[in-house]
Amino acid sequence: MISSVLPTYSRAPLTFVSGAGSWLTTDDGDRYLDLGAGIAVNALGHAHPALTQALTEQAGQLWHTSNLYNIPAQTALADKLVDLTFADTVFFTNSGTEACELAVKMARKYFYDAGAPERVDIITFDGSFHGRSAAGIAAAGSEKMTKGFGPILGGFTHLAFGDHDTLTAAITDTTAAILIEPVQGEGGIRPVPDHCLKGLRDLCDTNGILLIMDEVQCGVGRTGKLFAHEWSGITPDIMMVAKGIGGGFPLGCVLATEHAASGMTAGTHGSTYGGNPLACAVGNAVIDIVSAPEFLDDVNRKAGLLRQRLEGLVANQADVFEEVRGSGLMLGLKCKATNMDVVNAGYANGVITVPAADNVIRLLPALNLTDDDIVQAASLLDAAASSLSQ
Ligand SMILES: *Cc1c(COP(=O)(O)O)cnc(C)c1O
Repeated sequence: MISSVLPTYSRAPLTFVSGAGSWLTTDDGDRYLDLGAGIAVNALGHAHPALTQALTEQAGQLWHTSNLYNIPAQTALADKLVDLTFADTVFFTNSGTEACELAVKMARKYFYDAGAPERVDIITFDGSFHGRSAAGIAAAGSEKMTKGFGPILGGFTHLAFGDHDTLTAAITDTTAAILIEPVQGEGGIRPVPDHCLKGLRDLCDTNGILLIMDEVQCGVGRTGKLFAHEWSGITPDIMMVAKGIGGGFPLGCVLATEHAASGMTAGTHGSTYGGNPLACAVGNAVIDIVSAPEFLDDVNRKAGLLRQRLEGLVANQADVFEEVRGSGLMLGLKCKATNMDVVNAGYANGVITVPAADNVIRLLPALNLTDDDIVQAASLLDAAASSLSQ
């Protein structure tokens, strides 16, 4: 008999009932070090007092009014994001995949209004992940995500990851945009080198097409800059954000330049919930904390510590691990053992990691994990690996 919850996930037999910082507690009272953070969502860990306060204060005042009216917390958050980034304007969503829907619509509408309605094609890359909506699965294009679901939304060109020559050749007079994750998450923590991002920007400028970045997983301080593309010195035209920005409350957004957003006039897009007062109250609290230079400095310091520990772990457990990869606190351990076995061994040893493609386990801890958490992370992962190599 089908479970009451639609069985689209094969869930681990773990039931968490409370959390504090980087630690989760199960219904049996067992504690786990959370290096997954709800897949890069709990950017400030569990039960952060400033987020709890922001949410409960807003909950006592007003929950929802719709986007038919001004929402002060939404305007405040948009103003902050505009101040902090390349963007001139922001649309709020409830998830990453909704951000993908708008990014695609915005790019196509831009060219439609510019008198080039044939420019609809969006170039994407193998191993990418952009969510589970119709545009999201079409963008990623893998058989795993699209098979059996009928006609796939057209207008996506899928290219090999990291092949500049193929990319240059793939741009035609129907190309509208290139869509890329600066660091692939689901694809196995694969950073795009800075010089490649610069090359992408040049290619887009030369051909008059838009650069869309999906920073749903790598954004909001995860790599040690507020957004990952900042390391490369270039900026996108459109950017998708979600996951970390809500710190656990469903919130996403699309950031864009005035130019790229020029087609999105009144009535062209909408969302009932997107940017509602509760979500934006939390989003403001997250951005206030994460965007502070001292906070980002500390993310970089901790990223260095964790990386150093993980390099040691890989050296000690060469039967289980192959290498450390990634950027900031978005790290992957490429496994020699089967990655799911390593994740399960982690569960048995009290540490949570997240599997990804390319036989990688992902470490996406809360950005405010403590130095002691880092020491424990290495020792719990070492114990997990030892249990496998025996
Ligand atoms: C998670 C993710 C998405 C989809 O976000 P949802 O909130 O699950 O819809 C899109 N892009 C990337 C890079 C992601 O990691």
